[in-house]
Amino acid sequence: MASCRGKRKSTATCNSAVYRCKQCANIGCDQVQTDECTNQGFWCGTCVKCGTIELAQDLLRQQRLVMTPQLDQAIKILQLSLPELAAVVQNELVANPESAAIAKKIKKSK
Ligand SMILES: [Zn+2]
Ligand SMILES: [Zn+2]
Repeated sequence: MASCRGKRKSTATCNSAVYRCKQCANIGCDQVQTDECTNQGFWCGTCVKCGTIELAQDLLRQQRLVMTPQLDQAIKILQLSLPELAAVVQNELVANPESAAIAKKIKKSK
């Protein structure tokens, strides 16, 4: 997914996801505030050029479906080498003591 190269008032670079309006082909990021970003194309899912609400929101929903945090993590894990994967699993076990307890139970049952 493309990330916005526009400048924001609050932060230096915007880096938000960039969306495209199906109605007028307006391209830009989506912000909750008006004129938040120099490359802002949408305001709360509404195209700032043609005012299309539903098409913009549909587009947002589709893009969220395409890349959920879980899917993003799964792809990152798939790209890891075996030692890196072992480190990630170890970190997860440290971060989640409940998972560690379950892992021990699985080991014992084998
Ligand atoms: Zn932006
Ligand atoms: Zn539009």
